[in-house]
Amino acid sequence: MTLVRCTDVARTFGRGDQAVVAVHGCTCAVEPGARIAITGSSGSGKSTLLHLLAGLETPTDGTVERPELGARDIAVVFQGPSLLPALTVSENVSLAAVLTGTDEAEADRRATAAMATVGVAGLAGQLADTLSGGQAQRVAIARAIALRPRLVLADEPTGQLDADTGAHVLDVLLAAAVETGAALVVTTHDPVVAGRLDEQWQMNDGRLLVPATEGVR
Ligand code: ADP
Ligand code: MG
Repeated sequence: MTLVRCTDVARTFGRGDQAVVAVHGCTCAVEPGARIAITGSSGSGKSTLLHLLAGLETPTDGTVERPELGARDIAVVFQGPSLLPALTVSENVSLAAVLTGTDEAEADRRATAAMATVGVAGLAGQLADTLSGGQAQRVAIARAIALRPRLVLADEPTGQLDADTGAHVLDVLLAAAVETGAALVVTTHDPVVAGRLDEQWQMNDGRLLVPATEGVR
């Protein structure tokens, strides 16, 4: 069953003369097991569409439906630094489970498994603010998969990394999605990154250009 379905979704920021239509008339669906890249130049509406899929933004028009997803089934990897700098890596990864009522031993167990999946187990006791950009992004991925979500949404996860580090982080993200069975949606302006996902959704000036081969969903 479809994880997220957007029907004629629009998101406008501001009002009157200041209004910016970040996304217009977007109809799309994320199916279980999907590996989707949302591509497009800066300002084309990629992040806004990702946030709409996540439920972090509400549409100003149209509908976003997630028929079988609960709040804990969706995880987001944010674009910039997002770890809590004064906590250790393992505390960052287990925090969401602890905050949502999982007992600490079980939260630790899940964090350990997630850190192993993305290859950061050796950093578990390190403070987050001592990590390199690539390490921090892998920890953010571990945090995202620790709750075993059914959908992982990552906003330019390689955008601030050099090409080799970015490629490795993408490997980790793809492997984590395979291991946990989660669907994956990644925004990127990098065609090399986009080419590693199974589907490419191109945004242009707030509009989603559905690939001709896929037809209208
Ligand atoms: P991308 O991720 O492709 O760079 P965004 O979705 O961030 O694009 O932005 C699309 C458009 O919406 C841009 O013109 C941007 O300035 C505008 N925008 C995004 N978020 C906001 C916001 N919170 N307030 C006002 N304008 C915004
Ligand atoms: Mg963006």
